[in-house]
Amino acid sequence: MSTRPAPASAWSVDDHRDRVEQLLRPLAWRAVDPAPMAEALGRRLAEDVRAPVELPVFRNSAMDGYALRAESVPTAPATLPLAGVIAAGDRGDRPLPPGAAVKIMTGAPIPPGADCVVPVEETSTDGVTVTIGQRCAAGDFIREPGSDVRAGQLLVPAGTLVQPRHIAALAAVGLTTLPVFRRVRAAVLTTGDELVPAGTPLAPGRIYDSNGIALAAALAANGAEVVSVEHSTDDPAVFREMLSAATKSADVVFTSGGVSKGDFEVVKDVLATLGGEFGSVAMQPGGPQGVSVIDGVPVLSFPGNPVSTLVSFEVFARPILRELAGLSAIPKYTVPLRDPVQSPAGRRQFLRGRLESGAVALVSGPGSHLIAAMAQADVLIDIPPAATELAAGSNVEVREL
Ligand code: AMP
Ligand code: MG
Repeated sequence: MSTRPAPASAWSVDDHRDRVEQLLRPLAWRAVDPAPMAEALGRRLAEDVRAPVELPVFRNSAMDGYALRAESVPTAPATLPLAGVIAAGDRGDRPLPPGAAVKIMTGAPIPPGADCVVPVEETSTDGVTVTIGQRCAAGDFIREPGSDVRAGQLLVPAGTLVQPRHIAALAAVGLTTLPVFRRVRAAVLTTGDELVPAGTPLAPGRIYDSNGIALAAALAANGAEVVSVEHSTDDPAVFREMLSAATKSADVVFTSGGVSKGDFEVVKDVLATLGGEFGSVAMQPGGPQGVSVIDGVPVLSFPGNPVSTLVSFEVFARPILRELAGLSAIPKYTVPLRDPVQSPAGRRQFLRGRLESGAVALVSGPGSHLIAAMAQADVLIDIPPAATELAAGSNVEVREL
């Protein structure tokens, strides 16, 4: 754990988050993309959608029963001749003979001449006649055309986050595509000579690249479209080449590793010469951070320790990505600490915690390599920079992971 105080020149968490948000917020005006209905799920509608047809499309029965004229049953019970059966899908153009009843199914068209439906439960039949046990009034159990939505009426307004209920309404009026905003396209580029992809043997000194897949998952879970997940060695020429490829297909690029003070800090070395800003944020984990704009594309550079990478994403990228995707803000709560906590002076600390019966418990120490322990957490505990020791029972703010 870093118990060192933050350097005097360190950026505050809020300042760096603002910097990132300013860089990413213009992506709100990204292109409208007419998407097939199923691919529009979870995206934001860019334009109002009006109903091209009315619903119900035609007068139909709300019940399985008998269609008739209310005046044919002046007193109940009454027995009427049976004039056939109308199923859902029938054309419904055969008029009801005067004084008769016709058997009708839910959703079937009301025959011309009928003005009410008597539910099957209130009737008995011998196959030739039907005995109606209850009187009905004109309009009973009839769904009138346009009673749900009229043609031309607003069905779903611009800005709506498309959910299954919207898709149901839009499909019911026969639409096949929706004008939704394109998702933010994100590329992930991890760095480190020590990394190998999962599924390959681990030679001595090597570790699996977990940040690539973790960032991709974090992006997808927060409404972005992941266009590439690549890994570069610590060779600057290789990194520069791969970064160029990433900026060609993405609206924003996320890099991991190579931003601290070691000998092979490829991300910082390359991007700082291209105008990137690299510095230390007064936080733990996730201190070393960088932002750059390469070929017009924002590049966010996170430190490589797996917990640092994910905490950086949570703190700096997730809120703005959710805003851009039209997703709800991350819930935050104030809860008491179950355990006492120590924290470095001047650094805002994000500890991994678990909510347990109204309090928050630590899942591990502060080490930024403790990625297996992080899997046990459901919240980040936000310890303010000034706090150095908090007793059990102290109230802290937590944010959902
Ligand atoms: P760096 O920020 O490049 O100095 O890396 C810090 C630590 O995180 C080192 O122990 C790296 O091996 C580890 N690390 C860097 N990138 C990854 C990654 N993509 N997956 C897992 N661990 C990583
Ligand atoms: Mg590295």
